[in-house]
Parts: sequence; structure tokens; C-alpha cells
Amino acid sequence: MIDYPKSPEEIQAYLKNGLSQEEAAKRLGQFGPNQLKEKKKKSTFQLFLDQFKDFMITILVIAAIFSGIAGEWSDTIIILVIVVLNAIMGFVQEYRAEKAMESLKKMSEVQSQVIRGGKNQVLPSRDLVPGDLVLCEAGNMIPADIQLLEENAIKVDESSLTGESVPVEKEASKSITPSAEIDSPTHLFKGTLQTNGRGMGIILATGMNTQLGKIADLLQEKRPNTPLQIRMEKFGKTISLFILLICLVIFGMGILRGEDPIPLMLVSVSLAVAAIPEALPALITIALSLGAARLAKKETLIRKLPAVESLGSITFICTDKTGTLTKNQMKVVRKEASEESFPEGPNPLHLAMALNHDIQSNEEGNFMGEATELALVEHIVEDLGQKEYEQIQEKYPRVGEIPFDSERKRMSTFHQFEDHVLVICKGATETILDVLEKDISSEEIIKMSDQWASEGERVLAFAGKLIPSLPAEEEWENLEKDLSFWGLAGMIDPPREEVKEAIQECKTAGIQPVMITGDHPETAKTIAEQVGILEEGRLSISGSELRELSDEDFEKQIEKISVYARVSPDQKLRIVKTLQSKGQFVAMTGDGVNDAPSLRASTIGVAMGITGTDVSKEAAHMILLDDNFATIVRAIREGRRIFDNIRKFIKYIMTCNGAEILTITLAPFLGMPIPLLPIHILWINLVTDGIPALALAKEKAESNIMKRPPRPPKQSLFADGVGIHILWVGTLMAAVTLFTQYWAIRNEWHWQTMVFSVLAFSQLGHVMAVRSDRDFLFKQGLFSNLPLILAVLGMIALQILVIYVPVFNKLFHTEPLNLPELLICGGMGLVVFHAVEMEKLVKKWRRNS
Ligand code: ATP
Repeated sequence: MIDYPKSPEEIQAYLKNGLSQEEAAKRLGQFGPNQLKEKKKKSTFQLFLDQFKDFMITILVIAAIFSGIAGEWSDTIIILVIVVLNAIMGFVQEYRAEKAMESLKKMSEVQSQVIRGGKNQVLPSRDLVPGDLVLCEAGNMIPADIQLLEENAIKVDESSLTGESVPVEKEASKSITPSAEIDSPTHLFKGTLQTNGRGMGIILATGMNTQLGKIADLLQEKRPNTPLQIRMEKFGKTISLFILLICLVIFGMGILRGEDPIPLMLVSVSLAVAAIPEALPALITIALSLGAARLAKKETLIRKLPAVESLGSITFICTDKTGTLTKNQMKVVRKEASEESFPEGPNPLHLAMALNHDIQSNEEGNFMGEATELALVEHIVEDLGQKEYEQIQEKYPRVGEIPFDSERKRMSTFHQFEDHVLVICKGATETILDVLEKDISSEEIIKMSDQWASEGERVLAFAGKLIPSLPAEEEWENLEKDLSFWGLAGMIDPPREEVKEAIQECKTAGIQPVMITGDHPETAKTIAEQVGILEEGRLSISGSELRELSDEDFEKQIEKISVYARVSPDQKLRIVKTLQSKGQFVAMTGDGVNDAPSLRASTIGVAMGITGTDVSKEAAHMILLDDNFATIVRAIREGRRIFDNIRKFIKYIMTCNGAEILTITLAPFLGMPIPLLPIHILWINLVTDGIPALALAKEKAESNIMKRPPRPPKQSLFADGVGIHILWVGTLMAAVTLFTQYWAIRNEWHWQTMVFSVLAFSQLGHVMAVRSDRDFLFKQGLFSNLPLILAVLGMIALQILVIYVPVFNKLFHTEPLNLPELLICGGMGLVVFHAVEMEKLVKKWRRNS
């Protein structure tokens, strides 16, 4: 147990200073980091063992052992070696994917603000200790179990703990009660989300001692399967049955022909192991996880793996303006003060700019806070000088506030001024006009404000009044009326340089960018035109116009609307839902608490890494670490590439498997012996085509990657000619191999080694051609995927070893080929390569005709 401050005086002192740095360090040692223990993960060894769990592999090993007992042990051993090699490959891949996902998780750790030794600090939440004094702000995730000691309008969404989705109101306590029931109104609980208000509290429990820790076992989330994985699993099952059937036929026919059952069984089982695409769903997960790791290097943090897959299907990007399309570096460029003045003291506009904000100075004396307010404060400090600014702060201490929110679009602060109270209100011009004295003519104000907005400026209006005293908190909202108009300030926030190009890229890629902003329609339109979002024929609409539109009319127009201005966050949800009802796939950005529902509802909810609240990050599928619109477009490009490469991988593997099955099944029908031994089948499948296939994941983006329309998410993996490719290239590869077998047997060459090599070389030729769906290899450049070319050269070298080194001859039952035989194998191996290159020519010709 630790000592908590008890008397009111102790609590007061604590609220200023928090824990000392030394005490915090000591407690971190005592209580450990503020983390939930994860369910024990699979050990590395377990992960390795799991690679052998495959049913068909088990059968293979048993069959190999039987055949060893019945005959040659060397076969058994080499089969086991190949199986182990294959397991190692699978293990390495899976291990890398696991690590990648772990490091992504680390990157999305939450930060918290604490006071230690009297100083404000931002720390990773895992460093918090019991007794720490934490600042709680709307939008944050509650980092530990906390007792509230000061608060203003705090509400918390406790659904993660209680299932109750309506946010609960909280209140401050005067004393500290270390143990808390889950329904305590003065306690906040780890893992819940603060939706409103602000306050300060003391940490009572961290890590596994929190209420969340007690139920942590229930919360171990399973990674959801992606739609592609689900489809692949289904497909895998069907095709597996089909292949099993073929293997049975091969076995049955062999028996009828009077062949020895044990070697025959080994052939059938090897073929089943080689051709059944059991590992495909796992390989897809690995490809997506490694893709997510690559995306993290490009400033995109994936929170939900299926998002990697959906990136390529996005048809609409609905984006915020400030900070995402623009730099979020606001600068006041002009202001206009009204003629109002106080009997003595500064101009009211200056006073309002200096007082009505939440900007604070950090230890180095730099201002910190939200960009709009930062611009106002920096401007006024430059105008008045630091000294006068500080004097104003001292002379008019703040006694209350109604914070800003995107719904109301204004905020008010109340300040003591001698024996009066000063009410200051700032916000969007229309919302300030609503609270002015009745006799003020608004025409002039609107005209000026619209004029500034049409030049792309964000315009803020200021108003205020003096009242005799501050009423009770419930009455504060009533103070926002009958105010005098004090002036306007206009600020610019230039678009990010890279955005214009990114918008163009979206358009060629069939993706419609849409701006959704809380800003004035004129400001929004001007910026949208500058970056290329708003073009001829596209519409712009305001939140109030949107409210007037019936669902039916909105549905009719929605695909033509490019700018939504002065919308409130709840309207974002309507926009997403309506777009989705039109069959669109929407990426939607958001940063605030109120954005969470629309982020959750969209195909890909995108939260902002820098300015985003924890609540929005929690709801999002993906986080932009640099808050930049161009990063979304880059992520889409990467997502399309990852998907393309998965498709190429499947296309390659399935073609090879198809060719092997056809070769082995057809040979007896053509009056020839089964062409390959089990070791050959396993070798080709698990080694010579497996390794280059992995390197396909490194393939660069197709040249047209952002010039083609988005992929319909339900589209079959075998659409777009993939299925046909598998069929015709598989058949061709089998035909070439069978022809070689026929030719070699007739000429009494080393036919089996030749068949084995032709198949291996054909597959290597195929992998080189399949690298691109449209560009010839010479255009892509032989070396543009270095790992692949190294893998192919390595496999050729291995094949040569297997053909020429005596011990391998023994192990693999091969014979050294003479030069003409080897050349024939090489030549036959190139047939498939050229045929697939010709396919590209035909496709190109079709596209152009
Ligand atoms: P964007 O979509 O461009 O990021 P937004 O939707 O975040 O903008 P808000 O921050 O909700 O926009 O602001 C909406 C309007 O509220 C602004 O146009 C401005 O007039 C007003 N406003 C913004 N910040 C403040 C503030 N701190 N105090 C008072 N009014 C503000």
C-alpha cells in the first residue's frame, strides 16, 4: 500500500506538485509498468512446431517412414529434410510477420499528461505509477484507474468495461478512496474513453491491478480474418478436395496397372502435399502483415489488418481540410476591430484575442495548443508585446469557460475584472451573430467576413460584454446573449505542397476526393479549388443545406458533391452511410471525439496521428502519422501493390501446381510411366518454386497502378484473366513437360532427370514473366526485383547441383545430363516464359483495339 494525501491541505499541495520524480521512479520499480499482461504468446519453438501440424505433411512423413521400412531409407531422409526446410521457411516468414505486428502495436501506444515535481510532462502511459497526478482531457483514453480531484463537465464512455454505450457523467471527490466499484462516479477506469470535459486526478491502480486488468483475460482479442483470407480458406477447402480426389485416382489407376503400392502411395501423397494450397490463407496474412509493416515506414499505421486489403478498393476519400489538406500553420493576416471600447484599458478585440483561448506556455516559454488559437495568440503577442500580454493575463484571471466544440463552433470565457465579470465569446461569424445584441446590424459584418472567406481565410468573430457577477455554472450558457460585437480576425492556412499532385493521382486512379470541413463555405471552396478538389461540374454544399435535403435527393446528388462546409461531425456519418448505400467504398478522416462513429462506419476510418484524439484513433482502421492527405494516397498505392503481389503469387503457385498435377495424371494416359519421383515433386514444389514465389512480394508497383479504377472488393481473385492464365499456362507447362518426356524416352535420353529439370526451369521462367501483368520483362528491368532474380539464380544453381553432383544423383535418383540434353531442358524451360510474355502483347493489343 502507498500513502495517499489525506487532509484537504495535503490534497491542495499535491494538486500543485504531483509526485516527485524520484518517488515516481521508485514506484515504477515497485509496481512495474502500467501495462496489461498479454496472454502468453506462442514460444518461438511452438511456432516452429506448428509448421508441421499440417495434416497432409503428417501423412507424408508417415508414408515416407513406411517406404523407408519397405525399401530405401535415403528417400525417407531426403523427404524429411525437404519437409524441415519447408517448415523453416514457413517459420521465418511467420516469425517476421509476428514481429512486424508487435512493433506496430508498440507504435500505437498512448501518451499521457502528468504533473511531477510541479512540472507538466507528457509520458508514455506505460510509465505511469500509482500516485501520479494525471491531467484528463476530452478525447483521451483513460490510462489507469484514477480518482478525480478536480473536474469540469467530464463524461466517459465506459462501454469497453461495462458495455454501456451512453457516456457517464463524472464528478470530483474531495477525499481519496483507494478502492472503487465500477459504477463509482468519482473514479475513472483504465481503457475507457473520455468524451467531454477536463480535469485532474490521482492514479490509484496501474496495469493488471486496474479493473480492466482484472478482466483482461476476457479481452484478448483474436485477430479478425480479412475478407480475402475468408474467401481463400473456402476456396482452399474446395480445391483441396478436388486434388485429393485426383491423387486417389492416380493411386487407384496405378494399382490397376499393377504398380507397387507403397511407392505409388508416396507419389500420390507427395503430389497432394505439393499441390494442395493449404498454406495460402496463412501466406496471405503474412503478406498483409509485412505490408502493414512497410506502410508504417510510410507514415501509415494500420490498426486493423483487413484495412491493408481494402485500401485498393477505396472509391471516395472524404477528408478534413485543416491540417490534412493544409499545413495547419495558421497565421492571422488581418483583423478589424469594431469601434467599441472600454472606458480605460485596451481595445476589446485585443483583450479578447489575448484572453479567450487555451494556449499555454511550456517550460521553454513556447506557446502550445490548437493551431487556430495559436495563430491568434502569436499575433496579439507580436502586436502588444510579451509584457503587456502577460499583464492582461494577470489582470483578468479566468473564472469560467464554455469550451469550444465543433457542433457549436464557438467558445466563451469569463474573466474577473475588478468587481465585474467580463464575458468573451469567439467563434465562426454566424454563430457569433446569433449571440449579439438585437440592434446590431449584421449586414456589414457578414459582407466583410464572406469577402475574407472567399479569399481562403478562416474568419473568427469576437464579441463580449461586462456583467456584474458570475452566476452558477448551470446558467453560463445564458450568458452567451446580448453581446457587443468586438471585431473579426482572418487567418490563412496554406495548402500542403504535395496535396495537389496527390489529388490528381486520386482522379486518375478513379478515386473521388471530397472535402468535409467545419469551416465557412467560401473558405472551403477557395481551398478546394486551389488543391483541385472542386472542379467544373462538381458541387459544394453547406451543412444547413444538407440538413434540408431529403435522403432521396441527397442520394441523387451525393456522387457529384466535392465540398461539404460548416458541417457538424454527426453529418459525416450521414455522408458515409449514403455513399455506402450507393455502393461506394469510403475512406474518411477524423480527429475529434465526435468523429468516432463515422470513422467506425467507413470502409477505412483514418485518424490523425498528431492532432487526433485517442477516441478517434481507437475507432479508426488506420492512423496517419503525419496527418497528411498525400499519405492516404500513398497508402492506397501501397495497398494496391500489396494486393497485386498477392494475386501474382497465387497466379504463379496455382499455375505451377496445376502443371504438376496435369503432368503426373496425364502421363499414364499417354502410355508413359509416372514421370516424377516423390522427391522430385516435393523438391520442385517446396523449394524451387516456393522461394521465388516469396520474392514476388517484393515486386514494385505496376506502371498503371494509379491509372486504373479501384478493385471491387468482392471481385474474385481469379477475375481479370487470372483464372484463365492458370488454366492455359498450367496446361502449356504440362504439355511442354510431357512432350519432353515423350521425346526423351524415344531417343533413350536421361528422360526422368530431363522431365524434372524442364518442369523446374519452366517454373523459374514463369516467375520471371509473371512479375508484371502488363510490362515485358525487358521493360521492367531484369534487376528491378533483386531478391527475385537472386532466388531464381540460386534455384538454377541448386538444380544444376542436383543434376551433376554424384551424392545428389544418388539422393535424388538423377543422372548427369550431357550438354545437348541440358540445352534442350533450358530451351524447353523458356517456352512458358515467352508464351506468358506474348500474353501481355495480346492483352495490350486487346486494350488498344
Ligand atoms: P477542418 O475540417 O477544416 O479541419 P474542422 O471541421 O476541424 O475544420 P472546426 O475546428 O470544427 O473545423 O472549426 C469550425 C469552425 O469553428 C471554424 O471555421 C471556426 O470558425 C470556428 N473555430 C475553430 N476553432 C475555434 C476556437 N478555438 N474557438 C472558437 N471558434 C473556433
